[in-house]
Amino acid sequence: MTTTLAIANQKGGVAKTTSVASIGAALAELGHSVLLVDLDPQACLTFSLGIDPEDLDVSVHHVLTKGLDPSEVIIETEDGVDLMPATIELARAEADLLTRTGREHVIRGAIEALAEDGIDYDWVLLDCPPSLGVLTVAALTAADGVLVPLQCETLSHRGVGQLLDTVHDVRRFTNRGLEVWGVLPTLYDGRTNHARTVLETISDTYDLEVVEPPIPKTIKFAEAPAAGRSILATSRSSKGAQAYREVAANLVKRAARPKAAKAGKGGAK
Ligand code: ADP
Ligand code: MG
Repeated sequence: MTTTLAIANQKGGVAKTTSVASIGAALAELGHSVLLVDLDPQACLTFSLGIDPEDLDVSVHHVLTKGLDPSEVIIETEDGVDLMPATIELARAEADLLTRTGREHVIRGAIEALAEDGIDYDWVLLDCPPSLGVLTVAALTAADGVLVPLQCETLSHRGVGQLLDTVHDVRRFTNRGLEVWGVLPTLYDGRTNHARTVLETISDTYDLEVVEPPIPKTIKFAEAPAAGRSILATSRSSKGAQAYREVAANLVKRAARPKAAKAGKGGAK
């Protein structure tokens, strides 16, 4: 059984891509098979896993808009996860898909095509772009759950309501089973009461679970992408790597929770 998780927040710089790479590597350490999908035309996830998009002939763009078989695009990475890479061509996909019937279902269709080829990942993590456009809606349509990385600063909640409205629409129209798994506090400075207060306010205001532990803000994260590996490899025993390992273990537990138990926090409205 594949668990598909969309990592989404239309705000940039909140550690979506870092979280996808790090949680993916942590799940692989636990022995799970993992596919990461880069849905951002900036291709930061692809870069950060050591792959230069300029070297690629085919990418997720061809799968989503030209019907290429996803297995022809997937690359193995040194982090022990597979990657469906992006290139700048993906910037055109939003426009290309906009007039297509069934555009919300293109990512779900790609994951189903893999299953039909006998390729069943334990986890598919979707690295969403910083917008609520076609690609993010398609990711939410393909997902069992959505995880919202959030930097706990005063104005960081401003987009959360809008994201949850989109989730609500997706539940109504394209994916009834979508669950909000919660917010993941990132770039967290636990030394200040401020971060904690902001987190509590957001969690209460939007009735959202908080996925623990918060990911501490540390300079180590700046070094990892240049090395083409996640922080779990470049800084094995750092606090940041350790926090992502604990988050991954909690996500494994969350995936085992029966759907019936979803009512309550972040559950169906
Ligand atoms: P997004 O995908 O949401 O735009 P990124 O994952 O690209 O965000 O992260 C934005 C920037 O913040 C990157 O330069 C990344 O290296 C840095 N970063 C991410 N997490 C941390 C952290 N815990 N501590 C310090 N820097 C971080
Ligand atoms: Mg990103």
